[in-house]
Parts: sequence; C-alpha cells; structure tokens
Amino acid sequence: MPLILKRPDVLDLYQRGRDRGWVIPCFCTENLTTTEAVLAAVYDHGKKIADAKLPVTLAVTNLYDHRSQTVAYTHTRDWRVGLELFLADLRVLCGPKSPFRELSVMIHLDHIQHDLDHELLASDFEDVSSIMYDASTLPFEQNMAKTRAFVAGKGKKVVVEGACDEIMDATGTVHNEMTTAERAERYLKETGVDMMVANLGTEHRANTANLKYDGARAREIRAAIGPKIVLHGTSSVPSEQVGSLMADGVCKVNIWTALERDASPVLLRDMVAHAAQVAGSAEAKKLRDEGLLGPKAPVEGNADLGHFTTEYRQALVYGKMKAIVQGYLELWYR
Ligand SMILES: [Zn+2]
Repeated sequence: MPLILKRPDVLDLYQRGRDRGWVIPCFCTENLTTTEAVLAAVYDHGKKIADAKLPVTLAVTNLYDHRSQTVAYTHTRDWRVGLELFLADLRVLCGPKSPFRELSVMIHLDHIQHDLDHELLASDFEDVSSIMYDASTLPFEQNMAKTRAFVAGKGKKVVVEGACDEIMDATGTVHNEMTTAERAERYLKETGVDMMVANLGTEHRANTANLKYDGARAREIRAAIGPKIVLHGTSSVPSEQVGSLMADGVCKVNIWTALERDASPVLLRDMVAHAAQVAGSAEAKKLRDEGLLGPKAPVEGNADLGHFTTEYRQALVYGKMKAIVQGYLELWYR
C-alpha cells in the first residue's frame, strides 16, 4: 500500500480507527533509525494480530523551538534538506521493495509554527497526510483567528490538527491552562480543524513531576466535540492510563521523547560493558585511570567491527526504540 496522503483517504483511515476502537499512534522521528524502528514494530505487530495494513503515522517538527526535527535530521542543519530526506526515507521504506509496503503509513508535520514556518505553510502539502497548525502561544481569540484562516486556505487539501491550548513544557515556565469542554467546542466550531490537541495535564517534552493525564476531562471534551482529541506529551503518561484513550475521545497520540530518552541508557550500558571492543584497550585503560570507567569495565582486548561501527550503535538504539513502540502498540492495537 502506498503512503496515505490524500485528505479523503486520511479521514477514512481515522474513521476505520474509530470503528475498531483504535488510537492511531503518531511517532516523531529525526533520523532513519527511529523511522525504521517504528515501521518494523508496526509490521511485527500487524503479523501478530493478523492485520497487514495497520495504520501508523510518522512525523517531524520543523521550526519548533523546543525541537526542530527537520534541522536535526541532517548535519547540514537545513530544514529543507532534512524534510526532503525524511520524506524520501519514507517513500523508500513504504515502496514496493520494502517489507513495510503493506502498512497504512501516514506522514504528519508536527507543531508547525504560525509565525516561523511561513515557507512551509505556503506549500501545497501534497507529500503529507496531515499538519498540526500551532498558534497556541497566542491568546485564545488570536489563536482561533489564525487557525481559522489557515483552515480556510488549506483545509480542503490537507487534514488539519489545531492546538487549542498550550501544553506545559519541561521547564514549566510556559503557562499551563487545562483545556475545558466549552473552550474545545468553541475552538473546533470556529476554526474548522479536523482534530485538536487539548491540554489534558500531560507534560510535553521531558520529565516533570506532578503532572497527570486527566481522563475525566478528556471524556467531558469528547462529549462536546466527539472523538477528535489529539494527545501530546504521552511519554509522561503511565501505561495503565494510556490504555483506554479511545474511550476518552482520543483519536491520535503523539510520542517522541520516550523513544530517545529510553534508548540512550541502553547504548551507554552496552558501550561501557564492551569498552575495549568499542574503543581499544589503550583508550579503555585511560578512561578507567581517569575514573570514568569502573573496575568491572573490560579494558583488555582489541577494538572490533562488531562494536566500533555506527551500525552497532544504531542497532542498539533501534532495538530499544522498536521495543518501546511495540509496548504502545500492545495497548492500542488489539
Ligand atoms: Zn507536541
């Protein structure tokens, strides 16, 4: 199945998700390793539940100041190059020669900034399935006016996700107003977006204490607007809370932080445990003498191809990311 990019097809797929009680996961990525880990996890899970066409969304942010993933995608640090490579990776990985060719893959542009992403916002969005138009830093009325104008211009071509309220960031300095059902209803009606991000108490970009997903609030919003809620900041939500999201009116869940945050320790541990094979005996001994490696770290032996290549490092990250994605799929695709 080719990438699902046309607005009616994307809306159909979301409808199919609702009919099945599925929350469609959207994983952000900023490199091929992550993209492939997500697709491989969905592919394996599809085999497990005998559905070769499982839907999944891959996403990138652009000029979003908390994390610019198209910029991170290549060392050119040029978002245009990063975006093109991200799209090219997906075309190949979902193409006729790929094992992932049967999956229902959508492409999402995340947190596209109303004031910074002029160039991208002027494009025709032929290569993507949906876009999150983010004017949530503006006061509510201005946010609605900006979003309404965007939907009027592009909303017939591409599925639009709006951002009703800002979501707490890791520093906790951004104002954090929880979305109410009244506000959600007004926002949806007055902007015409297809789905909307609501602030349900999750944090957004890293660990913050005292934050909790508010399911009761989500259900109030569902009663007002239907199952059109998008949840961001899911990495902070314990899995016992994220299992019932569809019943709460959530149709799309965005995940990124957990993939990178939880893959790094796996890489660190394995490299320390194979110090000599990674860096050679002389360098490993030096690290031990400097106190950076402990007495149990192996410092004898030669560096070898199985441990000093990028492929070795990527395989560890890939394996952990795939396992994390698999964990989420177990919750949502049954
Ligand atoms: Zn987000």
